[in-house]
Amino acid sequence: MDDRDDDPPCNAVVELLTAYLDGALPPRDRQLIERHLDDCPYCADYLDQLRFAILMAGTLRRDDVPQQLMDALVGAFRAGGRAP
Ligand SMILES: [Zn+2]
Repeated sequence: MDDRDDDPPCNAVVELLTAYLDGALPPRDRQLIERHLDDCPYCADYLDQLRFAILMAGTLRRDDVPQQLMDALVGAFRAGGRAP
């Protein structure tokens, strides 16, 4: 019995992973990819790396954060260290 009939090949999955992370894929394709990721450690690993890369690319640089907001954040951080 072959239940891998509609399992896409790894290179097709890898090409779709960016769209997958963007939520740009139709539900049917998402399902195919999720099923493939369950079975395929290589593509699952690639997805992790891709996620990490996107996270890093989307990270705010310190320069982009207004000083006022930084001060507020640091203040909240310090205040949070102790019970009121
Ligand atoms: Zn794969």
